[in-house]
Amino acid sequence: MRLERGRRSQNIEDRRGARSSGRRVSSGRGMKVGGIGGIVVVLVGLFLGVDLSSLMSAGGAPQSSRSGGQLTQSSSTGRSAADVEAERLVSVVLADTEDVWTKLFQQAGQRYQRPKLVVFNDGVRSACGFTSSAAGPFYCPGDNQVYMDLGFFRQLKQMGAGGDFAQAYVVAHEVGHHIQNLLGVSMEVQRMQRQLPKAQANALSVKTELQADCYAGVWAHHAHKDRQLLEPGDLEEGMKAAASIGDDVMMARAGAPVRPERFTHGTAEQRQRWLYIGLESGDPTRCDTLSNV
Ligand SMILES: [Zn+2]
Repeated sequence: MRLERGRRSQNIEDRRGARSSGRRVSSGRGMKVGGIGGIVVVLVGLFLGVDLSSLMSAGGAPQSSRSGGQLTQSSSTGRSAADVEAERLVSVVLADTEDVWTKLFQQAGQRYQRPKLVVFNDGVRSACGFTSSAAGPFYCPGDNQVYMDLGFFRQLKQMGAGGDFAQAYVVAHEVGHHIQNLLGVSMEVQRMQRQLPKAQANALSVKTELQADCYAGVWAHHAHKDRQLLEPGDLEEGMKAAASIGDDVMMARAGAPVRPERFTHGTAEQRQRWLYIGLESGDPTRCDTLSNV
């Protein structure tokens, strides 16, 4: 990604070093909305439309290794180069989602409310209760905030989904849950899930997660169109990441039987497909996963 083209968001709160104690399981108001899932790799080659084809890797090595700046003024001392780079990425991508969604909401005659993104270590308290880093990044509808332990990016890389655009996809996916919250989807889905047997509630969760993937794609479309933030290789990274966190791939990787009734985020194929629908169209109305998956 060409992160140097982007501005940094003011809506990041650094809670690293602020010790959170408490139980692992959420007990606060509201259910937290699924994180990104876990994360590894599959290749997808065919991209259509716009000038997305120019973003396919020409076999080049990953780019943007320039590090820079601080997440917040007081927080970046003693950080590793990888942390500083991750801080920059999260800040620039969050800022870009602010610009893209502000524009898209305006076009729909609505006003976008920017979410805050909280960076934490180990565990964090939110309106959704206490959550361990092990749960991965998540969005809490109760306080309109995205929560991320930047260490998740290392896990992502270990699972084969490295690269800055894969990381950006994680941020944009969580912002996708914020969009769902603003549009009233989250509340409606949670209301329905409380009345459904587990397998059907999981199926609804899959639809919600795929919509967040699609919204992540919508963001990337506009980030590229408006600011040329993407560069060759980025789409491949995103598609690899989407595949690597498919429920079927993750279950197989864990050596577990693949049980579709337990899927909560969608298969690798579904996650790639919906990310791509958003990417190719740039149109959030195309992200209607609730009526067709
Ligand atoms: Zn999610």
